[in-house]
Amino acid sequence: MIFNHPYNQKMDKDRQIIHMDQDAFFVSVEIRKNPKLSGKPVIIGGGGDRGVVASCSYEARQYGIHAAMPGRTAKLLCPQAIFLKGDMEEYSKASHDITEIIADKVPLFEKASIDEHYIDMTGMDRFFGCMKFASELRQTVMKEMQLPISFGLSINKTVAKIATNESKPDGERQVTFPELRPFLDPLAIHKIPGIGHATYKKLSEMGVRNILTLTQIPQQLMFKILGQHGLSLWQKANGIDLSPVVPYRERKSIGTQATFESDTMDMAKLKAIITGMVSGLTFQLRNQKKLTACITVTVRYTNFETVTQQERIPYTSLDSFLISKAHNLFDKVYSKRMLLRLVGVKLSHLVSGYEQIGLYNIAEEEYSLCQAMDKVRNSYGAEAVVKACIVTQPPRDEKGKVIKYNPRKKKILLENIEEAEKDPEVRKRSKIRSFMSEKGTTGNKSYE
Ligand SMILES: [Mg+2]
Repeated sequence: MIFNHPYNQKMDKDRQIIHMDQDAFFVSVEIRKNPKLSGKPVIIGGGGDRGVVASCSYEARQYGIHAAMPGRTAKLLCPQAIFLKGDMEEYSKASHDITEIIADKVPLFEKASIDEHYIDMTGMDRFFGCMKFASELRQTVMKEMQLPISFGLSINKTVAKIATNESKPDGERQVTFPELRPFLDPLAIHKIPGIGHATYKKLSEMGVRNILTLTQIPQQLMFKILGQHGLSLWQKANGIDLSPVVPYRERKSIGTQATFESDTMDMAKLKAIITGMVSGLTFQLRNQKKLTACITVTVRYTNFETVTQQERIPYTSLDSFLISKAHNLFDKVYSKRMLLRLVGVKLSHLVSGYEQIGLYNIAEEEYSLCQAMDKVRNSYGAEAVVKACIVTQPPRDEKGKVIKYNPRKKKILLENIEEAEKDPEVRKRSKIRSFMSEKGTTGNKSYE
């Protein structure tokens, strides 16, 4: 580990990074639908006995209400608050529309979450001022979407995001390189993105309250106290963040597919395999704190004819929802009474985020179940706990042997199944191919 003074490190002060973030996104979509809600303490989710707040208006925040707070607590803090069930489908649609507007105007952007985008404008400022450009883009989004949005513009993603947060709601803020220290120094340390509750507490106990004090702690000490995370925090406090804006089009998908040893049209077996595949993929999704907005099912008939069906869906990582979607798509795509040699499932349009619990009818129990299953799987392996339908009807090959499926074990780096098939190396490989584009590992596994 080499410790450097920040100014010895590469600090790309010529970058121009915009961070755009919708203000109280879910609430704003509700207000657009029902303007009477404007100016009131509105809470999305949090209904019922054990509901949790998914999002709340700035008026509700004044009562100390925040996302992830139990609905009951929120009700105690603000009895007159208006609780809404929420509509993930509509929020997802608005999210896609905002992304389209941005994609139309900028060459390089990253969709960081359902309502956040980073844009890399480095090198563009010679042609048009970045601040003017960002400001106009913000106006366009507000006009076309009728939704409030704020942005920050600075030399990297971290400072741009902090600038957005400081300008919210309904604001815009530029922090140039010379303004970096005067901007960051007085801010409380919890303003640094990614600082967790435990870390915040630890630093507070050490008397570290603002960013200036954090920058004065020797790097070695930060590493000693908080490890790698401490170093990363220290860098952020010093305005150092070289992480790139990852182009949206290159945002990875996760998928898996299986070629059968002998072709089959055993529906129970096929559906059980699909269930297993989706459970494996959603497990990965939740572990990476991601949500998907698009599911694809592929089948290949015995004559090698390959058919694919795709559906846009509200952002989710829930097993039951995705499994039933996958089964529906499979029913649609498998239209010929012909043996199948392959099935595949892919989840794409991934963004960072957590399940917005409480926005689906069944979501609360389902989410707790998923969390409990993930916990077991993270400790004892992906196959430690599986859906009952896989257990009661284990998929078997023609010889009656149980077909095992473990999506975590072997992965191949590839964008999609179609492309993989063109690769002669992949074609040569065995009967099962599992694709996972983010980890970059390769391998294969057969159903034995
Ligand atoms: Mg937001």
